[in-house]
Amino acid sequence: MTGVTHTLPILMTEPPPPAPGTVRHDLRLIDSHGRTIRDLRLSVTDRCNFRCVYCMEPDVRFKRKMDLLTLPEMVRLASLCVEMGVRKIRITGGEPTIYPHLDELIAALADLPIEDLAMTTNGSLLTSEQARAWRRLGLRRLTFSIDTLRDERFTAITRSTSNPTRVLDAVRIARDEGLTPVRLNAVIMRGFNDDEIADLAGLARDLGVEVRFIEYMPLDSARAWDRSRLVPAREIVDAIRRRFELVPLGRESPNATATRYAFADGAPGAIGIIASVTQVFCDHCSRLRITADGQLRTCLFSTREFDLRGPMRRGITDDDLRLLLLDATWTKPRGHEINSPDYEQPARPMSSIGG
Ligand code: SAM
Ligand code: SF4
Repeated sequence: MTGVTHTLPILMTEPPPPAPGTVRHDLRLIDSHGRTIRDLRLSVTDRCNFRCVYCMEPDVRFKRKMDLLTLPEMVRLASLCVEMGVRKIRITGGEPTIYPHLDELIAALADLPIEDLAMTTNGSLLTSEQARAWRRLGLRRLTFSIDTLRDERFTAITRSTSNPTRVLDAVRIARDEGLTPVRLNAVIMRGFNDDEIADLAGLARDLGVEVRFIEYMPLDSARAWDRSRLVPAREIVDAIRRRFELVPLGRESPNATATRYAFADGAPGAIGIIASVTQVFCDHCSRLRITADGQLRTCLFSTREFDLRGPMRRGITDDDLRLLLLDATWTKPRGHEINSPDYEQPARPMSSIGG
């Protein structure tokens, strides 16, 4: 997976066609399939201190700093999205904790009339002081990524100098500082960590958190995804059930990404399964994504994106920016095509889209 220079190609983006007049008039972010947008994933950087095998190659090229959104640009976009119906914001990346203006961003987003402000992080850099400060500034909860409990494997998967103990310490910090409910994400890849599924599920019980198992998706910068590496949700649940009896809880809401399970013996914690590939859940999708370089993506797997940064830097008014957001949202595809033979992997890897 190494040895090649991987670039993040600049996508040619054309403005979207105008949405119907009623949509432009109502100023609510809805798409042509009747879905309402409630969730914004805001990627604050495409950089990261890890190089996870399923995400980012060691020699990945980052965007130029001048092409990344500034703090006021991010806040402007988030505010307009909230005005038009967004209720939840997730800060992500790349690794958001290395974004230099994170405190100011959290404070500004927390000021918006939203129900939830969360952040996804690899947890390698978290300190108690930071967690306390972010909680005070208005961050509600943290999600961590951890794919293995074994030191050597952690090094092999993340290609970092961190380790599982450090991430688990960060999880306890988040829990103790009230950045709850804490969730852990684990991407399962055959031949990498599929023999640790039940051990990772055990973390949910030990720490009283939700562990979410994510199917490996074709969004890696190496473009090395193949179905033989994918461990389907059904197999993940079977592996957990061989150790723990589970009670299905369904989805928290129709637009939720995870189907959830409780432990039958009443132990704390929960299991979530995000089966983006084998049990597609696009029908109720309520998400929009804004990349660190200011491109609007209406689907994680889109090959099309809409430039917001250029128009903002050319002086677009708020009224016109609202219309651009509405028009682009209207084009949100019904669902992804991962399972179609015509599937075309987006030019951007997950790290540059914002997971
Ligand atoms: N750096 C932070 C982290 O790792 O938590 C936040 C950004 S990361 C892109 C967000 C989530 O995407 C992580 O939980 C990561 O495991 C997941 N992810 C990255 N590449 C993936 C892939 N190819 N398939 C499935 N999940 C992926
Ligand atoms: Fe970095 Fe997160 Fe991608 Fe891993 S998954 S390389 S931690 S952005």
